[in-house]
Amino acid sequence: MKDIDIEKAKKLRRLLHERPEISSTEKETANLIKKSVMQYGPDEIIENIGGNGLAFVFDSKIPGKNILIRADMDALKVKEISDVPYRSVYEDRGHLCGHDGHSASLVLFSSIVREKLKKGKIILVFQGEEETGKGAEKIVSDERIKNLNIDYCFSYHNIPGEKEGRVLIPKREFACASTGIIISLKGKTSHAAYPENGINPSVAVGELLIFLNDINRKKYQDFSLSTIVGARLGDKTFGTSCGEGEVLATIRSSSDKTLENMSKDIEDKVKNISSEYNLNFNVEYIEPFPATNNDKEALSYVKKAASGLDFKIKELSEPFRWSEDFGYFTKKYKGAMIGIGIGENKPYLHTPSYDFNDNILEIAAKLWGQLIEEIT
Ligand SMILES: [Zn+2]
Ligand SMILES: [Zn+2]
Repeated sequence: MKDIDIEKAKKLRRLLHERPEISSTEKETANLIKKSVMQYGPDEIIENIGGNGLAFVFDSKIPGKNILIRADMDALKVKEISDVPYRSVYEDRGHLCGHDGHSASLVLFSSIVREKLKKGKIILVFQGEEETGKGAEKIVSDERIKNLNIDYCFSYHNIPGEKEGRVLIPKREFACASTGIIISLKGKTSHAAYPENGINPSVAVGELLIFLNDINRKKYQDFSLSTIVGARLGDKTFGTSCGEGEVLATIRSSSDKTLENMSKDIEDKVKNISSEYNLNFNVEYIEPFPATNNDKEALSYVKKAASGLDFKIKELSEPFRWSEDFGYFTKKYKGAMIGIGIGENKPYLHTPSYDFNDNILEIAAKLWGQLIEEIT
């Protein structure tokens, strides 16, 4: 790996950081990435994949395994609070999940793909819309990706709070499945003096809130968690008995099956409560993510690659509670998602002062390089 390419990747990372684009608006980001990868001579480029995404195909022209490596590139709608000279130029958004770093490290990897590629193809995917859980699903269902006959897929997420450069290998799932739920209850408003003439959903909302909290005591087969994120009921109109209510929650589990069971239990409860209080109801799911399941063989390749480079490995005993849409890739192809530590004292993902660690660019690019050697 050349020093000049590492410097270029750092520069790109900071440029992306300064000009963050949120999910589904990653046009300038994609342009910058395209310019950077093109200098390393990919054989094919697939544009506008899953929205603003890009895929670069490096083809050895010799039959072998086809390996896809993915980086995400979207930012968050959260204000960055930081003193770094390359902080976001926008007031309302920032690269606070490190997708700027994921992308820049994949660009850096593209500088050594040619020398590592002996057989098969390497496909580098730069994906948008990860934070909303939409990008990965769109990419894996794109015909142009389907036609590439992918054998393995890989990705990493940077992890603050873990030692810089430590490779974090999950037992099985990397991150949990999750979904937002909006439960809407509809009754009928009435004069506050005559509540018996209306249908007021407040008690039903109260019972649902208790249920969504108590469900955490239920023993599901796998890790499960329900978090109430909000509720809404009526207005500051003291002459009116309210007629509508809404409960918002996020549920998560290490397994897709358990998440499904939780949803079913919640839906059953909503149905029962609604019929008891004579309410109409609607249950809507928002931003569903599958669990990021890993393939054993794919994980063992990453482990071998990390050991081959003398990188320190930490085995994770349980998956991260948050979600990652790379699960859509590993549902379809053998693959693995792993973590790379960016430093013990780094602010956590999605917090206003979070920043990626540029030392990881080289580490991630080297890991992918070694991985290709292990597989091919
Ligand atoms: Zn994120
Ligand atoms: Zn992320």
